[in-house]
Amino acid sequence: MGQRPKEKDLKGVIPGLLRILRKFSPYIRKQRFTIVGAFFALLIETGLRLLEPWPLKYVFDNILIPAHNNSTHIPNSFGLNPVMLLTLSALAIVGITGLGSMAAYLSTYGMSLAVVEVLSEVRGQVFDRLQRLSLSFHQQHKSGDLITRVTADIEKMRLVTIKTALPLLTNIISLLGMLAIMYWLNWELALVATAIFPFLTLLTSKTIGRIRSFAKQHRDSEGVLAATTGETIGAIKVVQVLSLQEMLHSIFAAQNQKSLDEAIESLKLSAALERTVQVLMAVIIAAVLWRGSHVVLHKGLTPGELLVFMTYLKNAFEPMRKLSNQVGQIAKATASGERVVELLEYEPNVRDLPGAEKAHPFFGAIRFENVSFGYSTGKEILKNISFAVQPGQQVAVVGPSGSGKSTLLSLILRLYDPDSGRILIDSQDLREYTLDSLRQQISVVLQDSVLFAVSVQENIAYGKLGSSRKEVEQAARLANAHEFIMQLPQGYETVLGERGGTLSGGQRQRIAIARAAIRQAPIVILDEPTTGLDSASEQIVNAALEKLTEGQTTFTISHNLRAVQHADIILYVEGGSILEQGTHSELMRLGGHYATLYQMQSIIDSEQTGDTYAIEA
Ligand code: ADP
Repeated sequence: MGQRPKEKDLKGVIPGLLRILRKFSPYIRKQRFTIVGAFFALLIETGLRLLEPWPLKYVFDNILIPAHNNSTHIPNSFGLNPVMLLTLSALAIVGITGLGSMAAYLSTYGMSLAVVEVLSEVRGQVFDRLQRLSLSFHQQHKSGDLITRVTADIEKMRLVTIKTALPLLTNIISLLGMLAIMYWLNWELALVATAIFPFLTLLTSKTIGRIRSFAKQHRDSEGVLAATTGETIGAIKVVQVLSLQEMLHSIFAAQNQKSLDEAIESLKLSAALERTVQVLMAVIIAAVLWRGSHVVLHKGLTPGELLVFMTYLKNAFEPMRKLSNQVGQIAKATASGERVVELLEYEPNVRDLPGAEKAHPFFGAIRFENVSFGYSTGKEILKNISFAVQPGQQVAVVGPSGSGKSTLLSLILRLYDPDSGRILIDSQDLREYTLDSLRQQISVVLQDSVLFAVSVQENIAYGKLGSSRKEVEQAARLANAHEFIMQLPQGYETVLGERGGTLSGGQRQRIAIARAAIRQAPIVILDEPTTGLDSASEQIVNAALEKLTEGQTTFTISHNLRAVQHADIILYVEGGSILEQGTHSELMRLGGHYATLYQMQSIIDSEQTGDTYAIEA
């Protein structure tokens, strides 16, 4: 993941916004007709807004003031009698506001529609990207933080764009319109009014920069909070068993406090800024009133025009009071947007290479040629691994914990790519096949198989999407799972608890085996699938595994050497290297690590069972 940009001031918002717009542009382009239509409505809305004070001006200048001065003849520029002009002005007020509201409705609705459409597409993309990002990425990122990006960050962007950015755009356009009319009415007075702008800009940009930096820290802290909560809930059993509640609570409380402090700090700055802007506005309104009255008295402006002027000022500066808050909100949403863009820009390091082709149905010959690999640079986990397996052979991978067995097999699935060397399936480098077509031909059963919180039927069918009920049942029978599934409350339709919590370990494994079996894959990987099961479950699961692996190239990681002694090839791995390879009898004859381990296990087993049996050699 790239380093997060350190944007400390307002200058950071613009590049951030541009980066987001660039990334979202394909989706925005799809909505261009809606956006252009809504923008047109927005222009009409602001135009009408500018007209709002004008009926009042005409009533003032042409009716009220002359009447007040007892003029007998009341002239007006339209040649209308006063009652007519008054009626028209009154109607104009209603008409302008009515039409303006209609235009405002259309612009808000159109823009909101476009925003929702764009963001929902983005959200789909982010989810898709998250699923495809390599395991190494997921191991470096907390799931809570990633979830926040898909949910809260996108929601923040939606809310802020609709509730803040669009009104801000409307305000900016009408502000420009008002300024133009103000200069047209009386440039000198307009100059007095606008003299305050440089101060305002200076003041707001500095404070907004600080608000933004707090906001970003706040969002990051929220991500940390979500991650801590997610982790704790995910490991709730361990938390309770080890009585970690107090300790975790104090960690959480500290993070919570940090997040609170940051939120308060940015609220404080926003509130202070808003008040300062308000006072500055009062100063400017007073100055314009003072100077404006002079101009009116010297006939440079009619009283009605001064009224328009003052109304514009009030209207123009009113949104400015909210400006700091709005820009703060936009800054926050920009930070959210950048977190989303970061995900979209992250390239999975394991991906289809250019020219990768769909794999043919594999025979199942696998060869490692001088493969080395490390999760992080400088720390080699696998060192120069070479071996070859014929189609249909049973391969056992044995050795101490942490020696690299699971890592070795994860390379066959291309969960990671080797740092050097290559892996061949049917004499072709793995990386020349597309990822999907490669993985579809490999079945995997892990030690603790994850089941989804959907029906048993769907859980099995996830092994081969689109498979029929008949295929699911066949696979379940092969996995010795059909009988117990039929005894579940709704049989195959029974919805499992999260992570399959409603089933026993052995039952879960048999469903996982059914899921592996339905693929009918020519390559099978078993990573200690019976560890943790009682011996009765182990026997049933083993029987199912035998059926699953019959005739397929199979890799089994096992700690129980007796269980894998009939394998065609045994790879003894230690410290990331294959120290010995051969059949059981070859390795026993060799009298090396494997033989020692086997003998030790046999002694322990016989002590536990009270049996004595000859060590096979
Ligand atoms: P085994 O299956 O033989 O128990 P593994 O392949 O799981 O061994 O692990 C080999 C080594 O790689 C261990 O030192 C382990 O700590 C390390 N390791 C395993 N998975 C990761 C990972 N995702 N990131 C970093 N190191 C890892």
